[in-house]
Amino acid sequence: MTVIERPEPRRKTISSPYIHRLQRKHFLLFDIAPIIGAVAAVAFLWVHPFGWTEAALLFAGWLVTGLGVTVGYHRLFTHRTFTATPAVQAVLAVLGSMAGQGAVISWVALHRRHHEYSDREGDPHSPNLSGGGLVGAMRGLAHSHFLWMRRHEYPNVVHYAPDLIKNRALVKVARLYYWWVGLGLVIPTVIGGLVDLSWHGAVSGLLWGGFVRIFVLEHIVWAINSFLHMVGTKPFESRENSRNGGVFALITLGESWHNNHHAFPESPSFGLDWYRLDPGFWLIKVLQVAGLVWDLKTPSEERRESRRIRSVGA
Ligand SMILES: [Zn+2]
Ligand SMILES: [Zn+2]
Repeated sequence: MTVIERPEPRRKTISSPYIHRLQRKHFLLFDIAPIIGAVAAVAFLWVHPFGWTEAALLFAGWLVTGLGVTVGYHRLFTHRTFTATPAVQAVLAVLGSMAGQGAVISWVALHRRHHEYSDREGDPHSPNLSGGGLVGAMRGLAHSHFLWMRRHEYPNVVHYAPDLIKNRALVKVARLYYWWVGLGLVIPTVIGGLVDLSWHGAVSGLLWGGFVRIFVLEHIVWAINSFLHMVGTKPFESRENSRNGGVFALITLGESWHNNHHAFPESPSFGLDWYRLDPGFWLIKVLQVAGLVWDLKTPSEERRESRRIRSVGA
């Protein structure tokens, strides 16, 4: 008689001492080190002033890696809001990797789990599950902004990102993650050194174009997870506590339309209307005109209106 073994149900998260060791390492390298780097950058002002080179390296680095995260990691790979050529996919994945917020496939898996369990048990970074009152709110903010990354359940990529692990080029980019972060530090170092023709120009380039750039972008992205699940406006019905923070639209490259995004995760536009600033969507439109991306899944007017919250009696 043959015994037919029932396959184990696929686990949604995996946890092991090895994974937690990696998480701790990533936390120290990419979350704590940029803080130390930012402090060092300020201290280094005594040796080398903050000039046009530092400003340009910081701004350009923030912009391209930020677009890599919002357009590549988030709108393309996580939510499939449009389709892109393999070259565009690769460039966006590499630029997103340079931000130091994790390799693309793990980032996608974590973010898909965030949408699945938003503000409920299982959400990797909700600010609303740490108890009531001011203390609970403060603990929730600290957890969702930063502390959750020290150690968390690792979402099983086989469950959460089966489409991405079939994409061989993307798996290759993800495997080389540490190299991309390194490249993102080497480029501003070399440029800073060449422009100033000095070692302190190189160090200053590394500090402002590398560490400060990572530090600034990280806190912008984390603020979406923390503050924009707590305070802001809520024009659309959605089952979690996501909010819009319109004044931060430019600096977040459109990510701060977070309630819009949770209500319509399939939309490549987070602003939804042209007058809500959304630089991430502007890039997608430019790429569309150039014929490099297509099939933008913009929600219809009817779908949008059906989810709009109307005040009682209106
Ligand atoms: Zn999302
Ligand atoms: Zn969210």
